[in-house]
Amino acid sequence: MYEAVIGLEVHLHLKTRTKAFCGCEAEYFGQAPNTHTCPVCLGLPGSLPVPNRKAVEFGLKLALALGSRVPERLLFHRKNYFYPDLPKNYQISQYDLPLGQGGSLPLGGRAVRIKRLHLEEDAGKSLHLEGRTLLDLNRAGSPLIELVTEPDLHTPEEARLFLQRIQALVQTLGISEASPEEGKLRADVNVSLRRPGEGLGTKVEIKNLNSFKSVQRALEYEIRRQTEILRRGERVKQATLGFEEGSGKTYPMRTKEEEADYRYFPEPDLPPVPLPRAWLQEIRASLPELPWEKEARYQGLGIKPQDAEVLAYTPALARFLDQALALGEASPQALANWLLADVAGLLRERGLALEETRLTPKALARLVALFERGEVTSRVAKTLLPELLEGQDPEALVRERGLRVVADEGALRRVVAEVLAAMPEAAESVRQGKLKALEALLGQVMRRTRGQAKPEVVRRLLLEALGVG
Ligand code: ADP
Ligand code: MG
Ligand code: ZN
Repeated sequence: MYEAVIGLEVHLHLKTRTKAFCGCEAEYFGQAPNTHTCPVCLGLPGSLPVPNRKAVEFGLKLALALGSRVPERLLFHRKNYFYPDLPKNYQISQYDLPLGQGGSLPLGGRAVRIKRLHLEEDAGKSLHLEGRTLLDLNRAGSPLIELVTEPDLHTPEEARLFLQRIQALVQTLGISEASPEEGKLRADVNVSLRRPGEGLGTKVEIKNLNSFKSVQRALEYEIRRQTEILRRGERVKQATLGFEEGSGKTYPMRTKEEEADYRYFPEPDLPPVPLPRAWLQEIRASLPELPWEKEARYQGLGIKPQDAEVLAYTPALARFLDQALALGEASPQALANWLLADVAGLLRERGLALEETRLTPKALARLVALFERGEVTSRVAKTLLPELLEGQDPEALVRERGLRVVADEGALRRVVAEVLAAMPEAAESVRQGKLKALEALLGQVMRRTRGQAKPEVVRRLLLEALGVG
């Protein structure tokens, strides 16, 4: 048997207003081609880059959140290569002194080690159409973080999970939308096989994967392919591969440039940027609660570990939950249950995101509290949820429609008697010990009370009336 060894290189687009080294607007997604360009990002002679302070700050936020070491000064290097969508013929990047080195991200009780993370600029986009190539340079020069892990991951599933965690982290930090569908999170994956306990095997790199699903599929395919090669007693050849979505297969791309081909040298147009420790302190102090800290806090509030994890790593849910918790009306686990089961189910059914509805943390907290205080049954609470998505207030709905629990046992006994009279056969079955028939009677009472009776009370009254139990 072989063990897979996986390392990831993740590209994240930073959510700055302007590009990395010029004043052009950085948002490229959905914009008319070549409308966000200037002499700097087009690489025209005589133009000079100026570092975007916000991009540096965002990079530092990530470095500090991951516990990476940050150098005294930020140094930029030129990475030289020719490509039509790279008008300068070089990319401003970082080389031997990246913005962050070391650090880790918690995953499944372990720490996935971070090798480095650095700032760089993105290239433009080439569009290949009917034998012609069109260029859109809106993206050229927009700020990126490249984050490289140590080869600490071992399954395709784990690789996907790692990316989702990074996505949750940068969204929580507010530094990147990290939306793969907009090209704002892309990954290259490196994978090799080895027998457990042996040294690292020869790796291949699969370039430019732009969805979580393709990361997982490409790795699954590649692990199968390498396993077959090794089983035949052959060797895996080092390679740079692409992934074809349609066939689900990897294919050789090009012979990979060696580092020397890039002729890295310090960027002469950009003096080193000092990174004063006081600035780092300030940024560290401004970091929001990180997902793994949230997870621990939720667990401390008594939320089940599995639920705490999902909530903490889904920023929209975590934000909502925190606001609901702050009201102190409903218990943490009950809110977690409602969010993860009922609300999530309803949203999935309607193809909506939480923030696309008018459900407020306050409305959900009140609904859950009504249920927890025993003022409405779980059935009633659930039927009100769709209306809460439309912005309705649960207490008003319960009041207007008289949906409070029927707690008057006298009234309930009358309904029980009616139902027993209407369903004599079921009643007889229960008397003979066939308790399954009790469910039918119970259902009927619930229907006649419009779900407002507590099932456990109705059950007791039914058994009493039947002289059973
Ligand atoms: P290269 O110089 O080939 O780009 P790096 O050392 O920069 O290689 O590592 C690139 C990525 O490949 C990192 O994420 C690293 O963890 C991963 N990696 C390195 N060696 C291996 C290996 N043998 N198997 C799987 N992944 C590896
Ligand atoms: Mg590399
Ligand atoms: Zn520009």
